[in-house]
Amino acid sequence: MPELPFIQVLVENLAPRMTGRTIRHVHLASPSVLKTVEPPLSETQGRAIERVRRAGKLILLDLDGGLSVAFHLMRNGRLQVAPARVSGQRSPRPSKDVALIMMLDDDQELRFVEIGPKKRAALYVLPAEGMFEREPLQGLGLDPLSDEFTPERLKDMLAQDAGQLKHFLTLQRYITGIGNAFSDEILWAARLSPFVRASKLAPEEIATLYQGIRATLIRGLQEHRQAFTGNLPTKEPLQLLRVHRHGGEPCPRCGTKIAQVLYAEKETYYCPFCQTGGKVYADRRLSRLLK
Ligand SMILES: [Zn+2]
Repeated sequence: MPELPFIQVLVENLAPRMTGRTIRHVHLASPSVLKTVEPPLSETQGRAIERVRRAGKLILLDLDGGLSVAFHLMRNGRLQVAPARVSGQRSPRPSKDVALIMMLDDDQELRFVEIGPKKRAALYVLPAEGMFEREPLQGLGLDPLSDEFTPERLKDMLAQDAGQLKHFLTLQRYITGIGNAFSDEILWAARLSPFVRASKLAPEEIATLYQGIRATLIRGLQEHRQAFTGNLPTKEPLQLLRVHRHGGEPCPRCGTKIAQVLYAEKETYYCPFCQTGGKVYADRRLSRLLK
């Protein structure tokens, strides 16, 4: 699933294409993608796009007259901008992937597509007033790149959570934008075990975790900017990850083989030497099958 660096670069590269444009017409090809009823989607037509921004993993289009549209890409949702199709012209992409088309006043269109059979991507139309008290923005935690995210705030968040550190990082109610991939990258950078209890971290471990979060996301953002050079990101660049999805490869720091384990339905990658004091965790699902 796209995480903060990918979404941020998508927003940065979408903004010059969308800001100031007027939405001429909206076509909802896949009604199930729309998760709100009021205000209706048709209310977006004729409105200008004032701002494109990110909230956690969500992409927001702020329209004039106090309306916003929120896109949640989930795993396979993507946003594309392309020249508008003339009616009757054959689409180059199978139409079943296109969930929504927003025609703009410059003969370009924004397409919300979702590839694959599992349809989980989501679209919300929200009144700007009080939008952060509504789904899907309600309850979102702090942006880890914002000034409000400090070591003290992180310490308070950790103290509240009884779960394991990897899970804590991906919850969105404490820190937004981090998912399965970047939680592995951050914990590897901070040399911390994904399985340690969040509330049990020592003060110096909290400091390294804070550094790990900031440094990993800032570097990820810079690398994503370079990789996409002004284009809208589509495929997640696995080569920009150090340990996630690199199981069995040498740790870039110490050369130990990166271990992987299925944990809470998520593939977790870590270096046993750098992060878990040499301990390699058994994949419970796998050990059961091997018995
Ligand atoms: Zn290592």
